[in-house]
This record gives sequence, C-alpha cells and structure tokens, in this order.
Amino acid sequence: MKREEMMLACSSDLAGKIRGKAFPAAQFEKRLHRGVGWTPTNVQITCFDVIAESPFGSLGDLVLIPDASTKVSIDVEDNVPPEQFVLGNIRYTDGRSWEFCTRSILQDALAKLKEISGLTLFGAFEHEFQFCNMGDDGHGAFTLAGFRAEREFCESVIAAMRQAGVSPDTILREFGAAQYEVTMNPQKGVTVADHSVITREVVGAVANALGRQPTFTPIRDPAGVGNGVHIHISFLDEEGNPATWDGSSKHELSPVAAKFVAGILKYLDSIIAITAPSVVSYFRLTPHRWSAAFNNLGFRDREASVRICPVSDISDISKASQFNFEFRAADATGSPYLQLAALVYAGIQGIKENLPVPDATAEDLAALSTEELASRGLVRLPQSLPDALERFAANETVTGWFPKGFADVYVKHKQREIKHVEDLSDQAACAAYERVY
Ligand code: GLU
Ligand code: MG
Repeated sequence: MKREEMMLACSSDLAGKIRGKAFPAAQFEKRLHRGVGWTPTNVQITCFDVIAESPFGSLGDLVLIPDASTKVSIDVEDNVPPEQFVLGNIRYTDGRSWEFCTRSILQDALAKLKEISGLTLFGAFEHEFQFCNMGDDGHGAFTLAGFRAEREFCESVIAAMRQAGVSPDTILREFGAAQYEVTMNPQKGVTVADHSVITREVVGAVANALGRQPTFTPIRDPAGVGNGVHIHISFLDEEGNPATWDGSSKHELSPVAAKFVAGILKYLDSIIAITAPSVVSYFRLTPHRWSAAFNNLGFRDREASVRICPVSDISDISKASQFNFEFRAADATGSPYLQLAALVYAGIQGIKENLPVPDATAEDLAALSTEELASRGLVRLPQSLPDALERFAANETVTGWFPKGFADVYVKHKQREIKHVEDLSDQAACAAYERVY
C-alpha cells in the first residue's frame, strides 16, 4: 500500500503528554505560518484522558504553530516513511501567546531571567525508564550484559537522537529491574526542554519498532526503584562564557547561581506540584531512594533536591564549563517546559530577594527531628499531590509567576487526575500511571 509522509505538529501539555495533529509533510512551509487548529479545553485532558473542569467549555479556537528548529524526522523502520513531528507554541488566532502554552511559559521565564541577570540557561535533562513487558531482566545495574541485552535498542536510540538533532551523551542499564537511562548534552534556553521531549518520544518510537514497552512512570511499585528526571542547570553570561562556577565561593557557586539555587530551595514546596505532578510521584520522593525528600542542597550528594555535580581536574573541559547543579525532584509525569519554567522563576525570585548561599547537607536528614530540620531551614517535601497542590495554590508569589488564570486551571486539572485514582490501592495507582507514561 502507498503511504504518504506525514508530520505531526505537537505541544507538551499540562499532563506532560505530547499531543498534536498530523498534516502531509509536503505542507510543512505553509504550516509554519498557519499552524494547525487547536481547542482551549484540550488543556484539561488529563493523563487518563478524562476532561477536568474547564473554563473554556466548547468555546474558542487556537492555533498550534510549529517551530521549524524542533523538526524531527527519524527512520525507525525500514522501507516506510520516516516518523516526523515538530514542536510548537499554541497561540490565539491573532498570534498572541496563549496563557496555557507550556513552551511560551518557559520562553517568558527565560526572557525574564535574561532581563534581570543577563544569563542564558544552559542545561540538559536525564531520563530513567523501565521496560515493563520483561519483568526483571536479571541483568545487574550498569552491567555490560544489561547493555548487550538491549544493544540494538540502545544503539538505535542514540542514532535516532542524533537524527532528531539531539546530541546524545550516555545510555546505560540503571539500577532497577529492566531500567535504563539516557542522557543528552546541554543546550541553551528553550531547546533544553525541546530535547527532553524529543528524547522521550525517540525512546518511545524506537521501543515501539522493536516490540519494547518503556515506561517513564515515576515508580512502578511503591516499594520499588524510581524513574527520575534529573535536570542539569548552568548559566552562560552575555558573552557566552560559563557563569555558574566560582572556585573561591562557598560550594564553588558563583554569587548569582547561589541565589538562583537558594530560590529553588525556598520555593520548592510550592513548585513541586509542577515538577513532580502525579499521585505516584510522591512514592518516589521518599528518603533513601536517591531521589529527593527534603528541600536541601547537596554537595555531590544524590539524596538532595539540588545536587552540585562534580567537576574533574583531568577532563579536557574547563572546570567552569563542567560545573552545574542538578534538580532531582522531577519526573516524567510533568511537562519539561513547565518544570523548567517553575525552576527558572524560583531562581529569578532568589536573585531578586538576594537570598544567602544555602548550606549543603551531608547527613541522613530522615534521622533528624522536625525541630532540628527547621532550625536549619529544612523541611520534608510535601508527601502527596493534594498537599503539594495546596502549597502551590496558597503561594501567591509562585502563582503570580504564571499567566493569569493558569494556577486555577492547573489545580483543577490535577484534582481531576487525583479523583481518577483516589479509590485505588497504591499498587493499582502505580499500574494506572504506568499505562499512560
Ligand atoms: N532512580 C533514582 C531516582 O529516582 C536516581 C538514581 C541515580 O542517581 O541516577 O531519581
Ligand atoms: Mg540515574
């Protein structure tokens, strides 16, 4: 049968899902101007495909305008047209940004960062996922055998990332059952989130072609190993030079980077509903899982919400260029655009408030009393999505970063998602999320 090359114009929504519409690839140039039609209430389609309370009802029309720089064309199967998609921004039909377009929200946050500090964000996402149709693969963490068992998959993912314009870094058999991790090289600005989205979709496309079923769900079993998203962040100054490292400062953080980190930690309890936005995210965010359970800074500590990553003296890359910090309280149930926007706005707030450099923790915080934690400015992160959402909704500084009406719509979206799983056992809720992420 004859097949025609198609292109899907997509956007990442509040559920972190990539949704879009396909058009014949031959129309690409035209669609860069016209886009594809979009519907406001789509923003309230939860990850379980039920529609939350929507202020838009059946009214209104929008356009999803592709950004040609994100065009992906990958050959994941022989003798058929390539799989093609392009990411974009949702706009009103007069061209204005739509308040609920996650990519526009991030672009606004990045523009504000530049305006107040002159800094450009430079970063990358790390993704962990598990194959859910193979039980425990029996291969150990980081083993050559584990890599070999999925060599075709791993090699195909890396080739497809490259073909999609993403610069691959590493791929490995992680610690959990049939768990793998893929990392990419850092990019500037909105491309950091674009490449996270593209990589997740590339993993899905390759897996599909090879009969694998990957899940990026935060945790498959409340007692199991988590699939984290770790967001690496550093900055470039106006001349494009690294601006995160200062060898003579506390924790080697440059003054502006330290304030940015302090802002993230100060507002973390109120933004976690955006960075770890599912019911099951909170099974992962518990102590001793190498995820994140407190609003702490760790100097090379993998149990911290923000970890200062190592620099090596023997690398061919300068220390200033290597230096970055990593946000660990995120997972793939969130939109990378919203996650990064929340972090950037919290960082901007830290710069504006001129917050002091946080102390780094180096002990088991779960063993400390609440009073002892409080005396050091530390709190346990919210332990459920309803709790996290309440903190978000109640923090006017945080909701004020986002466009008018955003917070209310976001909370309603998430409340509908919660309702979908609230009568399920923890295990059944994990299974429900595993089916959709
Ligand atoms: N799987 C852990 C998580 O849920 C991370 C392990 C690691 O340090 O890579 O974040
Ligand atoms: Mg890992």
